[in-house]
Amino acid sequence: MSRDTRAVISAGALRHNLQVARHAARGARVMAVIKSNGYGHGLLRVARALSDADAFAVTCLEEAVPLREAGYVHPILLLEGVFEPRELEIACRYRLDLVLHSEWQLELLESHRLSRSLSVWLKVDSGMHRLGFPPELVAQVHQRLLNTASVGPHIRYMTHLACADDRNDRRSLQQLERFSAAVDVLRGERSLVNSAGLLGWPDLVADWARPGIMLYGASPFIDGQEPKPDLRPAMTLCSRLIAINQVRKGETVGYGATWTCPEDMPVGVVTIGYGDGYPRHAPSGTPVLVNGLETQLIGRVSMDMITVDLRGIRDQVSIGDPVTLWGDGLPIERVAEKAGTIAYELLCGVTRRVYFEEARDSHHGPGPYPV
Ligand SMILES: *Cc1c(COP(=O)(O)O)cnc(C)c1O
Repeated sequence: MSRDTRAVISAGALRHNLQVARHAARGARVMAVIKSNGYGHGLLRVARALSDADAFAVTCLEEAVPLREAGYVHPILLLEGVFEPRELEIACRYRLDLVLHSEWQLELLESHRLSRSLSVWLKVDSGMHRLGFPPELVAQVHQRLLNTASVGPHIRYMTHLACADDRNDRRSLQQLERFSAAVDVLRGERSLVNSAGLLGWPDLVADWARPGIMLYGASPFIDGQEPKPDLRPAMTLCSRLIAINQVRKGETVGYGATWTCPEDMPVGVVTIGYGDGYPRHAPSGTPVLVNGLETQLIGRVSMDMITVDLRGIRDQVSIGDPVTLWGDGLPIERVAEKAGTIAYELLCGVTRRVYFEEARDSHHGPGPYPV
């Protein structure tokens, strides 16, 4: 028995979730966000499953170039643009589109002659105050772009919503107002929404949606808020039970002795830990499926192991049984919430030690999710 700590990636789920995004976009185009190694699922694996998207978005050249080299001809947007002058010519060579978010990037474009013109998305800071030009500067930046030989004629406009995951937060509408005030007089396509905006704020969708997390099957909304989208988990993280110990009442389990057995009880050991990307801060009580049966993590997460409560299920489990940490049958949001984090961070954090494989559904078209 090899260690067998695996992330099973379902291309069928990715395709299904893209269809959900398409449907929600109601005719707007869909740019699949596959930054950070496809949210931890594997850049090229995800690109293949999502090749029906109208475009891809990544953070940097290192994520974009492999897509081109693998033969993808989609528009590919660099969400933070270029980081230094030499990247401009590489972006040209690979026909990558740039976000333009700062004066220094504009000056770079103005001062470099390039072998062909680049498509630019002018980023507007409508209230998140992270990247983008203030709305009042947009007309001026736009004019300078029109006069820049290295910039193609079709300038597009985007902004990013800070609170779209909360359907009751009016700041999204305020951001729409500020964005519109800046770009309404200009010609060109617009984009405002991430997954939460796409599903929760349909009036803000404009010409392009930029879904990320929903494509991987996690809800973009804060706890319990409607709508509950019909998404399927793209990653199931699983491992196996490698030991079962009977531990006496009053004895403790794991580092720091944070769990004390309230009675004589069976404790299972699963070979997965923070060295695999399972969150170290997941506390006792975090849900785990052993052989399909829900139980809870107990004690501290180690680098290579966790311990689980087998009370009530001891008769139905044996050494070697499969354990699901999240994914099919156990929504990642439940684990994230217990661990004080979000699904995004858990997905991106799965480490290279974990063996990635494609689910058996992967080579067929969209179909029922395998159970
Ligand atoms: C990451 C990112 C997205 C996708 O966000 P999700 O919440 O994962 O849907 C969209 N737009 C920008 C600018 C991003 O950086």
